[in-house]
Amino acid sequence: MSELTINKRIASIPASVTLGVTSKAKAMKAAGETVYSFAAGEPDFDTPEHIKAAAVQALADGQTKYAPVPGLPALRSAISNKLKVENGLNYAPEQIVVSCGAKHSLFNIIVALCDEGEEVIVPTPYWLSYPEMIRVSGATPVFVRASQDNDYKMTPEEFEAAITPKTKAIIFNSPSNPIGVVYNRSEIEKLVEIALRHNVYIIADEIYEKLLYDGAEHVSPGSLSPEAQEMVITVNGFSKAYSMTGWRLGYFAGPQKLVKAVNALQGHSTSSPSTFSQYGAVAALEGPQDCLKEMGVAFAERRNYIYDRVSAIDGITCVKPGGAFYVLPDISKFGLDSVAFAEKLLTEEGVAVVPGAPFGVDGNVRLSYACSMENIEKGLDGFERFIKSL
Ligand SMILES: *Cc1c(COP(=O)(O)O)cnc(C)c1O
Repeated sequence: MSELTINKRIASIPASVTLGVTSKAKAMKAAGETVYSFAAGEPDFDTPEHIKAAAVQALADGQTKYAPVPGLPALRSAISNKLKVENGLNYAPEQIVVSCGAKHSLFNIIVALCDEGEEVIVPTPYWLSYPEMIRVSGATPVFVRASQDNDYKMTPEEFEAAITPKTKAIIFNSPSNPIGVVYNRSEIEKLVEIALRHNVYIIADEIYEKLLYDGAEHVSPGSLSPEAQEMVITVNGFSKAYSMTGWRLGYFAGPQKLVKAVNALQGHSTSSPSTFSQYGAVAALEGPQDCLKEMGVAFAERRNYIYDRVSAIDGITCVKPGGAFYVLPDISKFGLDSVAFAEKLLTEEGVAVVPGAPFGVDGNVRLSYACSMENIEKGLDGFERFIKSL
């Protein structure tokens, strides 16, 4: 028998380092050890009751069959309305496709939009799935390392310098994972101006738009002008804002031609996302929004606490996150790469953090504060002890 071979593009996808640390932490917990984890990539709150009730009602009503491939008409129209009212974007329901999470939307968009020989610009540090999605499409990720001195924000000059005749798109994530970078209006205006001038599409991942601190404003790049909207593909979902990670629902809005292509791709792969989940999503968008405020207050309190303590540690530099729920301290002064640092910290203090390497920054580790204050306090005690021991 000849040896099993794997598709070339798929075979090169590395196993997730994030999962490596998480599974070791789980094993330690199972063995009865105390572990303080900063590894979470999802809010620790339960999904708000009224959203769950809507999905339960949908089940009781027999909404257990296939939905239309791009999503329920009621949901697409609720999304169209949300994008208009909250983001200043004018997308008809027909320009919206609902998928199994924003991650799935991003995958569909990138695979449908990008081709072999084309390039996609990825500001670094980046969310670890972007480069792999781009490689699966056959295109090449082009990394633009944003400097810590500029709060890890890519400058207009850095963006423009990375553009070549092969550049098809840029991935723009604000607020960002893994660092909570938030670009302000004038910075976004400059990036959009450059993208339009060079005919580069902007894939705007807005999954953290609701998690902003210190009164920061969320600006959707597509809202700047009708011309901008034509070059922007807006991605969002329910996981982070409404604490619905397990519901697997996200969406994008964009040019009709791309919508048609993604529809065809999705129609031959997953079809529509889960039907009764979508009823919950309608309730999320159309129901009371005070749940967002409550979660926002808790995240803001944790963010201030964790940032103050981490940035006060000798030898560490840390950018204050403007959004999302992560801090990304620079630990390069301690002579360990991010994976070695995370492994040693877990073994010696039972504190789990995520190495920066898969986010394109091997001198940093990511601490999520989507966990209780108690976990943050005790975990940081261990983190500080560990640093002192180095
Ligand atoms: C969590 C996350 C997503 C996707 O979440 P879904 O659960 O697939 O909707 C997308 N982008 C970033 C940057 C994220 O952190």
